[in-house]
Amino acid sequence: MRTITLSNGDTVEVDCLSCALTSGKVEPEGGVIAETEHFHAHQDVAYPIRGLVIVASKRHIKGLDELTEQEQQDYITFITKIRKAQREVLGIENVYYFYNEDTTHHFHLWMVPRYDWMYEFGRSVESVRPVLLHARKNKNEWDHIKVLEGIRLLTQVLNE
Ligand SMILES: [Zn+2]
Repeated sequence: MRTITLSNGDTVEVDCLSCALTSGKVEPEGGVIAETEHFHAHQDVAYPIRGLVIVASKRHIKGLDELTEQEQQDYITFITKIRKAQREVLGIENVYYFYNEDTTHHFHLWMVPRYDWMYEFGRSVESVRPVLLHARKNKNEWDHIKVLEGIRLLTQVLNE
């Protein structure tokens, strides 16, 4: 078991945060953006980046090569649909995708929208972490409102 601090300051004891989120044991702030048979999408509001989406598998797996054929189809269709929604309802021009297999959680993809302010950190993979930390450190109430609004808009269009 690990103790995890949620964005609202509450702590939970879980074996795997991704399992806790996808099973509904932990409700992400802002709610579930969308779900399929095999995947679950939400935002971690601790990183106040409007339109950021985390897609996690419902099965506790680590590697891309563990996905069944059905899951592979579901995955690409789902993230394509989310990407389209980010562009259409939030005007997001570019997204950085980040996924590592040696995670303490399980299989999940970060879809990080790229905004102009982020380019001061560069365009490489190394820029992703400073961008996330900068967003978290400089989080304010206005960002929080914009983030929750982004979640609501994505949720709406993805569940039509
Ligand atoms: Zn898990």
